[in-house]
Formats: sequence, structure tokens, C-alpha cells
Amino acid sequence: MKNQTISLGDFELTAITDGKYVADGGAFFGIIPKVMWEKKTRADELNRITVHCNSVLVRTGTQNILIETGIGNKLEEKRKKIFEPDEKLLENLHATGVAPEEIDIVINSHLHFDHCGWNTVYKNGVAVATFPKAKYYAPRGEWEHGKLQTERDRVSYLSPNYDPLIQSGQMRLIDGNAEIAPGISVEVWPGHTRNMWAVFVRSAGKTACYISDLIPTSWHLDVTWVMAYDLFPLETIESRKRYYSRAIPEQWLTIFTHDPAIPWVYLEKVNEKIAIKTA
Ligand SMILES: [Zn+2]
Repeated sequence: MKNQTISLGDFELTAITDGKYVADGGAFFGIIPKVMWEKKTRADELNRITVHCNSVLVRTGTQNILIETGIGNKLEEKRKKIFEPDEKLLENLHATGVAPEEIDIVINSHLHFDHCGWNTVYKNGVAVATFPKAKYYAPRGEWEHGKLQTERDRVSYLSPNYDPLIQSGQMRLIDGNAEIAPGISVEVWPGHTRNMWAVFVRSAGKTACYISDLIPTSWHLDVTWVMAYDLFPLETIESRKRYYSRAIPEQWLTIFTHDPAIPWVYLEKVNEKIAIKTA
């Protein structure tokens, strides 16, 4: 996916992808039968589907804000072979004309490895900030959960993506909802994890929402199409209903974190089904 730019009020949003990775189709579609999800996307001979890791650069006029940082380039070899990540975020950021040194704020919706990978890069074996002048923000509950290293999801939490930044004081952990900068706020939307944030961008009466893994792609609009990764699938359904009840009447631009082709859409209800607004 090429960088795509859209204006939102006085802000400019650019969707920048870290590129593709491959994931098990069953993991992405949970209890939905393959005969149904295969109509949305084809699996390869290993039952893997291709998805992307999409970040958003918000240029407010005074600040450059980066929402999410993809998989990054620090995965160990074994996992690179499993996920085949493109590792293209910095290349695609470069194409926007904004340098890593010019990023003022980085926001991670949660701390799974495919959402905060480019937070840091290895320099002489030490993980250091990729965006040296940025203030980083993440949900405190995510960090606390990652630290527990539970059997269920410890593979998703890789501490070099965030611990060095917390130790240096460059990353702030926040409880609950908060305003990060004028027009940029975060809200907890549980389901995928307990503390995952949606990131809201608001300018001149317009709203965009980076809803992250609560609705990871345009294939997951139906409230029952819940990923197998989700720790609280019933809460995902409730959160999605609550999301649509506001996003549709208030015309939020919905941003997809893992869609390989569609970075953002407006939504509507057609015959009781959630659909992409075409006109
Ligand atoms: Zn996740």
C-alpha cells in the first residue's frame, strides 16, 4: 500500500504502512468458518493471509504525531521467517518528507509487538529510540499486563519495544483516557485486550478514529467477526456496537490498523449491516 493522505479539518493525515506480514487466517477470523472468510481474502497453502501494519502520521501544523509503529526490524530470525515482515515504515515515512527526528509524539494503542516495533531500533546491541525527540505514550495497563508474561500472550509482548523508553523517561504510561495534544486524545476500548486505546484525532468539527485491533480490517466490520487473538471476545462485540452507535451518526473516519488495501473509511448502516460508505 502506498502512502495516502487526507485532510481532516486543519490537520493532514497520512497512512503509512510498515508493509505486509503473513498471519494464520484462523487466528484473524476466530470462529468464523473459512468458507465464509475466504470470500474476503484468500489464504495461501499454509492457510496464511497477508495483512499490513498501518501507522498514521498526523500533521497538525505545529506538531508531527505518529500513531502506531508497526512490527519494526528487531524480530529474531525465527519470527521473521514466520511473519515475513516488510519492515518498511521508515522508508515510507521518509517519502512523506518528515524525518524521524521531526516526530514530536508517538502513540501506541497497545503494546503487542506488531504495534510498537519501530519504537526502538538496535544500536550496538542496545534498543534506542527510533524517534529521538518524540514523547511516547502507551496505556499503563498494557505495560503491566505485558510484564506479567502470561502463558496466553507473552509472545506478543517484547520489552525492548518499550522498556528502554520507560527507563529513559521518554515514554509516559497513562491510566485510562487522556488528551495527548490539542485535538489528539486516547480512549480505552476493551475487547482485544483490557486496556487497548483508540486514538481520536479531531479538528474543526471532524473526527477520525484509529480503532486499532478492535476492528483490525474492513473484513471485520460485522460485530461477530472477532479475532481469535482477542482476550475478551464478548467485550469486543459490545465495544464494536458502542463504536458504531457513535461513529456512524457522528461520521467518524475509521482507520484500519491491519487492512492491506484500505487505510480508512466512513461507515453506514445498510439493511441493519455495517457497511463502507461509498459516496
Ligand atoms: Zn494486538
